[in-house]
Amino acid sequence: MANKNNKKNGSQEDKWKKILYTLIPILLVLAVFTVGFILNNYQKNNDKNVAYTQLIKDINEGKIEKVEMTVGSTSVKLKYKDVEEEKSAIVPNTQAFIELIQNKVESGNEIELIQNPRNFIATFSEGLISLLPTIVLVILVILIIQMQGLGDKGKVYDPDISEDRISFKDVAGLDEERSEMMEIVEFLKNPEQYTKMGAKTPRGVLLCGKPGTGKTLIAKAIAGEAKVPFISMSGSEFVEMFAGLGASRVRKLFEKAKKVSPCIIFIDEIDAIGARRSSSSGADTENNQTLNQLLVEMDGFDSDQSIIVIAATNRPEMLDEALLRPGRFDRTITIPLPDLRGREEILKIHSKNKKLAEDVNLKSIAGDTAGFTGAELENILNEAAIIATNKKHNAIENIDIEDAVKKVTVGLEKHNRIISEKDKKLTAYHEAGHAVVSRYLETQKDIKEVSIIPRGIAGGYTMYKTNEDKFYVSKTEMEEKLISLLGGRAAEKIALNDISTGASNDIEVAMKIARDMVTVYGMSEKIGPMSMNLEKDPYQIQLLGNNLEDEIGKEVKNILEDAYEKAQMLLRVHRDKLDAVAAKLLEKEVINEQEFEAIFEE
Ligand code: ADP
Ligand code: ZN
Repeated sequence: MANKNNKKNGSQEDKWKKILYTLIPILLVLAVFTVGFILNNYQKNNDKNVAYTQLIKDINEGKIEKVEMTVGSTSVKLKYKDVEEEKSAIVPNTQAFIELIQNKVESGNEIELIQNPRNFIATFSEGLISLLPTIVLVILVILIIQMQGLGDKGKVYDPDISEDRISFKDVAGLDEERSEMMEIVEFLKNPEQYTKMGAKTPRGVLLCGKPGTGKTLIAKAIAGEAKVPFISMSGSEFVEMFAGLGASRVRKLFEKAKKVSPCIIFIDEIDAIGARRSSSSGADTENNQTLNQLLVEMDGFDSDQSIIVIAATNRPEMLDEALLRPGRFDRTITIPLPDLRGREEILKIHSKNKKLAEDVNLKSIAGDTAGFTGAELENILNEAAIIATNKKHNAIENIDIEDAVKKVTVGLEKHNRIISEKDKKLTAYHEAGHAVVSRYLETQKDIKEVSIIPRGIAGGYTMYKTNEDKFYVSKTEMEEKLISLLGGRAAEKIALNDISTGASNDIEVAMKIARDMVTVYGMSEKIGPMSMNLEKDPYQIQLLGNNLEDEIGKEVKNILEDAYEKAQMLLRVHRDKLDAVAAKLLEKEVINEQEFEAIFEE
């Protein structure tokens, strides 16, 4: 199974990486020690070392009794007449030195010259020791290069024609995108059919969408349907430590692809290499080289090579325009978040190999998970299976999946955290504030559950029902969302006459919404229908006039203050309900939809 193979390779690679990571510090320490050892030795010998000019002088003056040499070594041992200790010296030219001594002996000096035969082991180890730091360094460099994967990083998936291969059956939803994918499959299967007709063949397809929406899955499914190899690499793997490595990796990747063509090359996170080229030098130049190489490779396909490059990104707006030109990534498929039906289908696909109880209602789970990606939904079913196992259920029950949804959205329930009564009361009023305010706002969703049991970093939470997918959000809805967000803080102020840090996340979210209303959706009367993407281009604002920044600041502040006022007003009017909900929360810690509604029917 193609997928399984991939995982196995991955973990083996990881294992190697781990080993290398532990080896490198050891080797580094070793290298430092060797250098230290050699320097130390050198120093010690230095006391006993006689400089060559001094040695010649001493010989001439007849101070030397004995000279011991070894063939093949420039190091000689010396015995002075009046000194006990043996000394040594390095002679630059051994032949000349021997002749010099023989001359002395012939002219009557008494110098004993011993010439030892070549000592292979000594010369060898001498040489080795002096080479040791170099050897260690070379090993280090090799290891680092290995780790960088200078060799072979692209993983080839053999054209495996078994039914285990990923196919379109494994991809849920995306009905509209499917026809475009089918076209690519057709081209890979019968390229002649297209070239005969004179049709330009597709080269690159860009898949745009959030992480976890199934981009990799789609690329694999295309390869699977066309029964061609799937070679994949992640953009971030191209940009590692060494300059120039990225470009050579791109070259290798395409070389490999040409060998196994027809095939699919999948480049995940293409924005890591394909980001807009800037004219500045420095860190960017490495990326430029990589990107340029990619462009060269894509332009360089022969028309008989059926290689299709599929790239994935979450930020298409960041990409260099050159990548999107004809003959490169000239097709873009946007992968949306799954809609209600899509979510149900994804849940169905991923629950196939799980044991579900009779009561499981995937449709209602799909309704509770608007905004979730395919990967998150898969994760929820996995969590549900774990929860069911822990609870010793015979099969996964609906409640287990609901718990998994909660666990994934708000983090784990922390029953055992000790909370003071004061904190509990504060949380109760805070959450009651959100819930009561939302209850009186037309556009806000119905309450599903309110809780003061801490989960993750939140002290409590208010869960809303989500049962429809929306494409547009109205201004009124956004304003009311702000009111309900600030309802927590408003309740603290009204009921306890103090405010807490518990609302910091609400305020952060509210701030972002208010800012987007003014600067992205053009919803402010004062500023007008303007859209400024300040995150992408913070300088744009300066082009639009002097006091626009101030104006925007004032508008955002007005919107937020207005919402806070309204939240407080609503809670003052419905103070009895606020108290009732808070009291119920303190009593039960969690209240569900029915219990919540009952308070309003009294
Ligand atoms: P991306 O590449 O967009 O980050 P992946 O393809 O890696 O997302 O998706 C991760 C996993 O989520 C997939 O392996 C698959 O199990 C699941 N998944 C995502 N989208 C879908 C979908 N439309 N249908 C079925 N499974 C999906
Ligand atoms: Zn809150």
